[in-house]
Amino acid sequence: MIDPWTFSSTVDYEDIMEQFGIKKFSEIIMNIKNPSLLMKRGVIFGHRDFDLIARRISENKNFIAISGMMPSGKMHIGHKMVVDQLKWYLKHGANVFISIADMEAYATRSISFKEGREIAINEYLFNYVALGLDLDKVEVYLQSQSKPLNDLAFNLSKKVNLSQMRAIYGFENSTNIAHLYAPLIQVADILLPQSELFFPNTPTVVPVGIDQDPHIRLTRDIVIRFKDEFNFIAPGSTYHRFISGLNKDKMSSSKPKTAIFLTDSLDVVEKKVKSAKTGGRESLKEQKELGGCPEKCVVYELLLYHLIKEDKKLENVYTHCKEGTLLCGECKQATADKLKELFENLAIKRDESIEIAENIL
Ligand code: SF4
Repeated sequence: MIDPWTFSSTVDYEDIMEQFGIKKFSEIIMNIKNPSLLMKRGVIFGHRDFDLIARRISENKNFIAISGMMPSGKMHIGHKMVVDQLKWYLKHGANVFISIADMEAYATRSISFKEGREIAINEYLFNYVALGLDLDKVEVYLQSQSKPLNDLAFNLSKKVNLSQMRAIYGFENSTNIAHLYAPLIQVADILLPQSELFFPNTPTVVPVGIDQDPHIRLTRDIVIRFKDEFNFIAPGSTYHRFISGLNKDKMSSSKPKTAIFLTDSLDVVEKKVKSAKTGGRESLKEQKELGGCPEKCVVYELLLYHLIKEDKKLENVYTHCKEGTLLCGECKQATADKLKELFENLAIKRDESIEIAENIL
């Protein structure tokens, strides 16, 4: 069982794909016009019905891309992946929607609506803008403030019962009703863009981590149940790998020692990179003889996900690491420098972006 609130990174991706019928992204990538780095490098590894979206892109037709964010905790470098994907979708013809899941934050983390709004603006949206997402072209809303969303969620909840919710999410007798209802709001988040208010009969993609798949499955099931009333198209989805935390566990805002936050100072960033778990050997001598293991290295992941755009340069790091001609000290320093440069640019852009973010909600 996977659920969006307690998922651990120890879960086997291959196993989940097989269990829930998620298809390999590598099997359709050749049909995608200008695939993104995350697609080409296998960070995005699975999908449901992305063929439909690939076709829309190649025909220069619009489609819907929807992403949600729960306003709790701070934004870390792993969250940048979502922004990178939304930028790519926007560039490839998507009508992009971002739901601020303040109702979910209230139901599952007891975060008040006022606090949720503040976190959304000051931790997330202003970083989204600083990272280059043009929010003027995106529909951003707070769940609690959207009447059409809440009306749709209530409407859809009529054909979902408790045993189905338990089977999908593992809810217990002690689960509060707001938490139990929160996934229905997310289902409405995914389907509302296809309503008469926005873009009817338009295919939708939801880029998510595998922990969010229960919402996708529930939505697809509800689409079938309501086919006579709404005629929604079942949403497609993509699944990305989580970036590892500094200790190789999942990077998480609730475990500050695992995460590099986008607002960390440059000194802290450097220290964190230098403390990260690598795929290096016990001694220099051994590393020179046997080479390192970039596949197991958190530093290499930072380069692959975020810091090296040119494939050739990334390949060089990989090869030199394997051959033992690149050592971890030097590699960590180079990575810390790249990350600091990224953070310096972000800090400059953030000054301008806070005002934009405040005016969005
Ligand atoms: Fe990781 Fe770099 Fe060390 Fe290789 S040399 S294990 S990529 S830190």
